[in-house]
Amino acid sequence: LVSRDNHPVRSTVRVGGVPIGPDTVTLIAGPCAVETPQQTLEAAQMAKAAGATLLRGGAFKPRTSPYAFQGLGEQGLRILADVREKTGLPIVTEVVDAHDVPLVASYADMLQVGTRNTQNFALLQAVGAAGKPVMLKRGMSGTIEEWLMSAEYIAQRGNLDIVLCERGIRTFETATRNTLDVSAVPVAQRLSHLPVIIDPSHSGGRRDLVLPLTRAAVAVGADGVIIDVHPHPEQALCDGPQALVDGDLEELARIMRDFPPLL
Ligand code: PEP
Repeated sequence: LVSRDNHPVRSTVRVGGVPIGPDTVTLIAGPCAVETPQQTLEAAQMAKAAGATLLRGGAFKPRTSPYAFQGLGEQGLRILADVREKTGLPIVTEVVDAHDVPLVASYADMLQVGTRNTQNFALLQAVGAAGKPVMLKRGMSGTIEEWLMSAEYIAQRGNLDIVLCERGIRTFETATRNTLDVSAVPVAQRLSHLPVIIDPSHSGGRRDLVLPLTRAAVAVGADGVIIDVHPHPEQALCDGPQALVDGDLEELARIMRDFPPLL
């Protein structure tokens, strides 16, 4: 279902009316985690100022440590819905448990499946049946073939509104949190008709790498990027070191503006 063999034309997925696909480079930005109404609104305003047309923000956070901030849950979803109301930005947010899919889908414009859940097949089937577009991250140790098979689980449930997201993979390198596999973009685009975007924030895990990796994403032909921004990253409850700050936004906007879509 997701293979390009049976569907030669590359697809565009619409999220609350915003297209992600071959004719555009969509900027999705926002906080890694929803922390407070004020922080989420400020991050959304930062995102909008940089040209983002979709707001990201996690209410359910899949953290490596059980002692780390796990997200605000439904309270976080309510904050996101309120910020959507105020900014007009449709919401992309993660769901980590199949049982929470109806709840998260009742607020979200797009459901995100994170790298740790790329082969959680019950979750994939549940989001496939939820009637909302899905962003599917690549497993941090997953091959492109495995990633596409995960997308197939979603598609099998009748949902072809899937966006693939390369977010870095595990390699021997320790200088970066993950190694961004830029080649995954053209490879996945050749094998699948689904749009492919890049997450330069979770790939590098470092603020100073986000803009260079965004340039790489756009240059390699990614259909979009998803980027963490935070008004006060030093106080962030999740992934502060990779969040862009106010001073980065002009350059981010310039990158998105100056790279014409590769048609
Ligand atoms: C995220 O985008 O908030 C996230 C946790 O990403 P990943 O699943 O790629 O680690």
